[in-house]
Parts: sequence; structure tokens; C-alpha cells
Amino acid sequence: MSDRLSGALQAFAFSGQSNADWIERTRSAVWHPCTQMQHLEQAPPLPIARGEGAWLIDTDGRRYLDAISSWWVNLFGHANPRINAAIVDQLGRIEHVMLAGCTHAPVIELSERLARLSGLSHAFYASDGASATEIALKMSFHFWRNRGRPQKTGFVSLQNGYHGETLGALSVTDVALFKDVYAPLLRQSHQVISPDWRLAEANESAADYAERAVAQMEIFLVEYADTTAAVIVEPLVQGAAGMAMYHSIYLTRLRELCDRYEVHLIADEIAVGFGRTGSLFACEQAEVRPDFLCLSKGITGGYLPLSCVLTRDDIYAAFYADSTARGFLHSHSYTGNPLACRAALAVLDIFDADDVLARNRVKAANFNQLLAPIAAHPRVSQMRNIGMIWAFEVNDAAPGFSLRFHQQALAKGVFLRPIGNTVYFMPPYIIEAAEMALMADVVLELLEMQGN
Ligand SMILES: *Cc1c(COP(=O)(O)O)cnc(C)c1O
Repeated sequence: MSDRLSGALQAFAFSGQSNADWIERTRSAVWHPCTQMQHLEQAPPLPIARGEGAWLIDTDGRRYLDAISSWWVNLFGHANPRINAAIVDQLGRIEHVMLAGCTHAPVIELSERLARLSGLSHAFYASDGASATEIALKMSFHFWRNRGRPQKTGFVSLQNGYHGETLGALSVTDVALFKDVYAPLLRQSHQVISPDWRLAEANESAADYAERAVAQMEIFLVEYADTTAAVIVEPLVQGAAGMAMYHSIYLTRLRELCDRYEVHLIADEIAVGFGRTGSLFACEQAEVRPDFLCLSKGITGGYLPLSCVLTRDDIYAAFYADSTARGFLHSHSYTGNPLACRAALAVLDIFDADDVLARNRVKAANFNQLLAPIAAHPRVSQMRNIGMIWAFEVNDAAPGFSLRFHQQALAKGVFLRPIGNTVYFMPPYIIEAAEMALMADVVLELLEMQGN
């Protein structure tokens, strides 16, 4: 038998494998992210064969509604014909070329469009969110150094904040489970209280609490601004903290503080960028322009790894010099990958052509109505929504709640992944009314189930 034929037969045989076969093989060969591998004995991963709109389809042909957009990345569904077409077209031109010493139309056009949308004129690329965080931290530090203030080396972030898991990003992250083991490897950074309105006093409004929280930031800056390069925050929603939401006045005040104390503001919009909170960028809701804007996740509609750090002219100018070492020499092999940039351009085209933000407002209002019985449920508290993110707490959840709830929802055809006792929805923007009704019905049923 020719190699090619046996290869084809093998491929056919693979496609005939069941979920159980794939699970066995993944457990022996793949080291999964964010996973204690031993837990896969009880909670096997879902072998996905294909996707269709808001749906994932496993290798046994069962369908699951992707209610969390494949870890917050997918905007316009799986196998979206318009994004597919853009990538296929680009494949016929150039799949990749290094971006040091070369350039190409997709990266130029994407940078021009992001500059118009964000008001930040220069775009630096990488592949993952954590790399964007690293770049923003390094650029901020290097800017101050180039400007003759090399003592500004520190960073301040929010309690429960999440900025990625490479060492620099983890240094400004505040999630004990991800961070504590690696503490000896990390740089010291400082965390101040989060404006998360769940932490407000009983009679305190979200806005009042945000003002109280930002006062803590000022106390820090009064003392340490001279040695602080930047503040990094997730604007409006701290995702990994359990979709913690806060009042936009915090960002307005934070911008004022950063100006007053000469500290950069890094907006990590890796999760909230591209319409998640109802505006294209979350900072717009506070009419704030950050010094560095970190983007990833939704940027390619969930298709390809791409991240970007946008910054202002005068920051860029501080690196522009005769001396090579004054330049920002950071690089990744796949920086500005043309296929990823084409996917991102297709995503921006869809935002324009379909008036996505306006349509999402209608969908969100509809889903809020469908969620009313859940919000009123005796086991539910702190129901919250911004844009296309919804979250609530389950009050009397038994130990092991999040995994059990995940598996019970899967059995009913909905893919959800609670964070602790927080159940959240972050669906792709193409979600339809019947699909939203399914999400709401399944969650209400599960809340009624014994032993949850
Ligand atoms: C996901 C996320 C990151 C990290 O992005 P990766 O692509 O997973 O490295 C950083 N910041 C925020 C706010 C995120 O949600």
C-alpha cells in the first residue's frame, strides 16, 4: 500500500474514533492547560470534532452550545464563512514572513484601523495575551529609562487581577492558585484594593465604592510614584476574578491620578476588548485613553493567536533614536502573522457591516429578560451584566460545585465553566434568541437540582 493511501485510510480510521478513544489518547500525550491532569480521570475533556456557529460538536456527534466563547475568544461563531474566506485568501498569498526587515499589507492595514479605533497610533504585535502584558510592562519601563528616569521600575495592579501567566505577567496577576507556587521566580509588584462592587458596604453605591478604591491607589502613588512605571488594570471587568464588575468612574479617576503622578496607565483589554462590555473598547465608557492598550482574545474572532499593544506617538518617539539600544528590541517569531492579521481585519469588517454593537444591545436586553427568573431565584445573588457578559453567585453551593455544574450543563447540551461559585455567560455575538433561551432554561433547571 502506498504511504499516501495508508495515510488516507488512517485518517479515515481516526475520524471513526469515538470520544472514549480520543480521551485515552489525549490523556497519554497532551498536557492540558489550567488542569490537574489526574482530574481528567473523573472529568475527561470533551473531544471536539468541529464547530458550527455557537455550537461545538464532539467526536460522537453530540452538540454543545459554546456559552463561554471558547474561553472568551470567539465573537462570530465557529467556522464563520467570512473569517474562513479571509484566511483562505491570505493562504494563497503569504502565510507568514518575519516582521523585522519585512512588512505586509495585512499588518499595515490592521495597524491603521486599530489606530483609528483606539486613538493610539502605533501597534506592536505578539501572539498571546500574556506576551502583550510583557510588552506593555517592558515598554513602560524602557520609556522612563530613555527619558532619564531609570528608577521607575515598579508596577501596581489590582487585587484579584489577572494579566496572564508568563513570569512578568504573573508578577502583576493576583490569583493565588496560579501565582503562589512561582512566588520565588516573580518580581515584586504591589496590589491595591479592587473596585469590584461586590466588595462595597451594604449602603454604598458602586460609584461610591469605586471612589473609595481609587483613593487607595492615590495613597500608593503619593508614596511610590517616583519608583513606579505603570498601573495595569482590566477595565470594567476582572474576568478571572469571577467576572467582577466595577463602575467606570474608577477608570476616569485612575486616568487623572496617572497624569498627576506621572505613571503610565496600561489597559489590559485582552478579555474585554472588541465589544464585550458594549463599547468596542471598555475604556471608552469612561472616556479614558490609556497609555498602553493590550488586546488579544477576540481580536481574531477566536481563530488564531494574535495580540497587540497600542501606544501613543510620544511614547513611540522616546524610542526613536540613532542608538539601537534605545529601540524596543523585543520580538517573537510569529509577530504580525499575516493569517492572524487577515482574520482580525475580517473581524473588524463584520463589526462595521453588521452593526454588531447595536445588535448586541438588543440581544443583551432580550437575554436579561430571559434571566429574570434566575436573578429572582432564592439561591442566586449578585446577578450582573455588562455588554455581552453575565454572571451571578450561587449562594449555598456544595463543595465541588463548579466541576459538577459544568458536567451537568454539558449533559444538557450547554458548555459552561463556572469560576468557583460564580456562574457566567459570555456567548459569541452571533447567539440567537432560541440559544439564549436554552442557556437560561438549562441553568434554571440545574439550580433546582438536588445536591448542587
Ligand atoms: C486571558 C487574559 C490574559 C492572558 O492571555 P493569554 O492569551 O491567555 O496569554 C491576560 N489578561 C486578561 C485580562 C485575560 O483575560
